[in-house]
Amino acid sequence: MIPVRGYDGRRVAVLGLGRSGLATVRALVAGGAEVLAWDDSPEAREKAEAAGVAVTDLTRARALEGVAALIASPGIPHLYPEPHRVIARALEEGVPVDNDIGLFFRSFATADWDRFDVMPKVIAVTGSNGKSTTTALIHHILQVAGRPTQMAGNIGRGVLDLEPAADGEVVVLELSSYQTELARALTPDIAVFTNLSPDHLDRHGGPGGYFAAKRRLFAEGGPDRAVIGVDEVEGRFLANQMAEAPEDERVIRISSGQKLDGLGWSVFARKGFLSEYRHGRQVASIDLREIAGLPGAHNHQNACAAYAAVRPLGLAPKLVEQALASFEGLPHRSQLVGERGGVRFVNDSKATNVDSAAKALQAFPRIRWIAGGLGKDGGIAALAPYLQPVVKAYLIGHSARDFALQIGETPHEICETMECAVARAAEEAQPGEVVLLAPAAASFDQYPNFEKRGEDFTARVAALIGG
Ligand code: ADP
Repeated sequence: MIPVRGYDGRRVAVLGLGRSGLATVRALVAGGAEVLAWDDSPEAREKAEAAGVAVTDLTRARALEGVAALIASPGIPHLYPEPHRVIARALEEGVPVDNDIGLFFRSFATADWDRFDVMPKVIAVTGSNGKSTTTALIHHILQVAGRPTQMAGNIGRGVLDLEPAADGEVVVLELSSYQTELARALTPDIAVFTNLSPDHLDRHGGPGGYFAAKRRLFAEGGPDRAVIGVDEVEGRFLANQMAEAPEDERVIRISSGQKLDGLGWSVFARKGFLSEYRHGRQVASIDLREIAGLPGAHNHQNACAAYAAVRPLGLAPKLVEQALASFEGLPHRSQLVGERGGVRFVNDSKATNVDSAAKALQAFPRIRWIAGGLGKDGGIAALAPYLQPVVKAYLIGHSARDFALQIGETPHEICETMECAVARAAEEAQPGEVVLLAPAAASFDQYPNFEKRGEDFTARVAALIGG
């Protein structure tokens, strides 16, 4: 755990007692703070009490009196569509609102780093898609390179739950826009921006607010290196703002599809090959085509981002190449879960929106596509340009009939359940084809979350092919 500094003997309120909230409480207590902890959900309060955390009702009048800071969980709105009532009161009363990320950046460096040979570093990853994959990939490369490394943030471990840094340690953080928007300190050594597509716009008051939240990771602390995806205009703008001149190597531009051979430092992937350029000269090339854990142009973008993030640490291209090849992928993101008779079964249950489903559909040439669930606003009409590789769709869940109407001429069958869809797709699939779960819909009509949906797919594939 990272004890929080700066609040010794002071009173701090914590709103939201999920995994990161409970880690925050423990880290504050370890730093000598008096903690007032609250969650609107009775179950979360019970769990917290069972874990030994005293609960105080922060919704009472005057609950924030004498409080030095209010630490909010990322799931709780602090601005749009409207602030949670406890946060609204903090804003009225002038109580600083922060989150665990802000506390982490203020508490991570300690006096004993003086004795270290190599200063610890923090790499922070943000963007609309590919954050988790890129974060896990960077962590994996560092492990293969034998560097001490830990991973946390949006990817499942609260940042204050990390162990204090060892000599030469590299901490890799996945940060969502909710987290970057609120943190009062954001000082990574290397900041990574993968890409931008509209998401969570209700929480950020529109696309400008969403981009501004992500941009704070670069604007607040001034990282030593900024790795920036330039395939959208927002990324090009951000790279332009961070660089003093075209040859400024503080910015490493990355792309999936564009050749970037300008004067600066760049890493891009085209036709399955990753290239690194510096000062207009190619310095490395890696064949990504056979890496099973990184299929598709979207994963090649993630490979570029991870490669660019570790190169400034002095890792050699050959070593990074080996590490990329042994990356197995994250569960539920283009994850190969089985193979039989030349047919591969791929679980991309995390493709809950049109954008990520489009990427998955571009990753394979012939697809038996399992899709559907709880459809999102706007439907899937935007997927029309990507349906060409789909040999047939097997539609499940609440949106099955809706999706059938929206995919037009593409052959399809209404299956309703995962069991039926997997069985029918496996029965009809020909060698060389991929049975792909990429639902383009939320899972909540049939499952508690996308992980359970992916597990169900994987279990049914295993039952069928004896995996
Ligand atoms: P995040 O953490 O940003 O949600 P993930 O790595 O968990 O990103 O991937 C989420 C979904 O987006 C998955 O369906 C995955 O296959 C897809 N995806 C992964 N990387 C990218 C990328 N670079 N661009 C677009 N989609 C991606």
